Amino acid sequence: MKIICVGRNYRKHIEELNNERPISPVIFIKPDSSVILKNQPFFIPDYSKDVHYEAEVILKICKLGKSIDKKFAHKYYNKISLGIDFTARDIQNELKIKGLPWEKSKAFDGSALIGEWIDKNEFNDINNLNFSLKKNGDNAQLGNTSKMLWSFDELVSEISRFFTLKIGDVIFTGTPSGVNRVFENDLFEGFIEDKNVFNINIK
Ligand code: ZN
Repeated sequence: MKIICVGRNYRKHIEELNNERPISPVIFIKPDSSVILKNQPFFIPDYSKDVHYEAEVILKICKLGKSIDKKFAHKYYNKISLGIDFTARDIQNELKIKGLPWEKSKAFDGSALIGEWIDKNEFNDINNLNFSLKKNGDNAQLGNTSKMLWSFDELVSEISRFFTLKIGDVIFTGTPSGVNRVFENDLFEGFIEDKNVFNINIK
């Protein structure tokens, strides 16, 4: 199983990191070793002093596909949830300056939290879903999937031009604004509409 992540898919988040708006989605991969096992905390790695949370709507691939046409893309994912793309921002900034790949900052062990999956048919319109991340009981990130620069179907189509999608693969669809540093003992709770899909502690 692989995780394909999309960067810069919400305008306000692009602005908060002073990034340029891309002409096609920024895509990177996390290996299966990045996934946090069920009910485990997130451990801040010793090589970063500035790990950020990025709450993102995630999709689960249910059908093998390559070069998927946008109009059939909806058939290739059946479940939806919220995840966290944990990012060592200090490392990422160094790598960006040097023009080097992002894996050390984005694909390390524990950098991917996957929430509890929900059948996408439980929602009336997945292209207009509210989601939120609470930090220690307060809203840290609020998003709506209608604000994405590229829709789920556009992302599935675009990603599958480069990477064959396999059953069980996961797509992280980008974070809205509000990303910030995690601290020891923080508690994060993820919601899609009013459904609580994860709770995680920082250690
Ligand atoms: Zn992200």
